[in-house]
Amino acid sequence: MILTISTSKNTSLAPLIDLHSHSTVSDGSLTPSELVGHAAGLNVAVLALTDHDDVAGLDEARRAAEEAGIALVNGVEISVTWNNRTLHVVGLRIAPSFPALQQGLESIRAGRVGRAERIAAELAKHGIQGGLEGAYEFANERIISRTHFARFLVSRGYAKDLRTVFKKFLVKGKPGHVSHRWAELGEAIDWIRGSGGIPVLAHPGRYDMGRTTLENLLAEFKEAGGLAIEVISGSHSPDMNRQFAEVAVRHGLLASRGSDYHSPEQAYLSMDRLPELPPQCTPVWHDWHDLGLHLAPAA
Ligand code: AMP
Ligand code: MN
Ligand code: MN
Ligand code: MN
Repeated sequence: MILTISTSKNTSLAPLIDLHSHSTVSDGSLTPSELVGHAAGLNVAVLALTDHDDVAGLDEARRAAEEAGIALVNGVEISVTWNNRTLHVVGLRIAPSFPALQQGLESIRAGRVGRAERIAAELAKHGIQGGLEGAYEFANERIISRTHFARFLVSRGYAKDLRTVFKKFLVKGKPGHVSHRWAELGEAIDWIRGSGGIPVLAHPGRYDMGRTTLENLLAEFKEAGGLAIEVISGSHSPDMNRQFAEVAVRHGLLASRGSDYHSPEQAYLSMDRLPELPPQCTPVWHDWHDLGLHLAPAA
């Protein structure tokens, strides 16, 4: 398979690369096969499945991708606590069977169970009963997340949509918020690197941190073995995309690009509407020769 990737701004015919997406294995609404079908239908040429804290969808996604004739990148999105803040680190081109990665993800998923019980208890304090069972109605047996609580709250009429839930509930200062300790930044990076993968700081524009804190994070991320940053995210504004292109170049980080697709109701930006990486960035896929990517010179 030969894919022509334009690094120029002329994107109209360039095959699409989306390196951040979710399936029903975590908190997306499409099964891995349906997700691949969705991507293929939008002409995505390279898709990474990056479920939260789980790699269980990758086999199914790979089979579907082979049938659809698109390239699947093995991915994961690991929940991390850094200086009392929650961060997400995407791992790309991981080996899903790597034992330390498997064990690490399993321990994060186990932590989610107790956290869900605490979330339900907090909701109950505010008169919302049955949250735990309600959230599990929307979850699979592997992962319980705030998205599942959000779907429960919408279904019972507490909010009109997911976006409203994350304003009125489940966030700091609102009913259903709990604090939680995820993996350490260094651990997550070690699991990814140990499995042969590339650690990518996910959607940096979404972290509510000042400039100094961000610079400290980037320095620690690099020091710990981090290699890339999501410059283009479906959840970034155009300003954020520009800001993180500059950050990537200045810190010598590779640049990634992903929609963070979850579901038709929770799609930030359609996979086929993602902006190109700015030309000064080095794409994280620059040396993925085995995918048959052919990098066309910038026009
Ligand atoms: P958790 O990892 O259980 O804390 O759940 C986090 C997930 O909640 C994210 O991955 C998103 O899918 C979802 N989420 C968080 N904030 C929002 C928001 N403002 N709008 C929609 N979904 C959100
Ligand atoms: Mn999510
Ligand atoms: Mn995330
Ligand atoms: Mn995500």
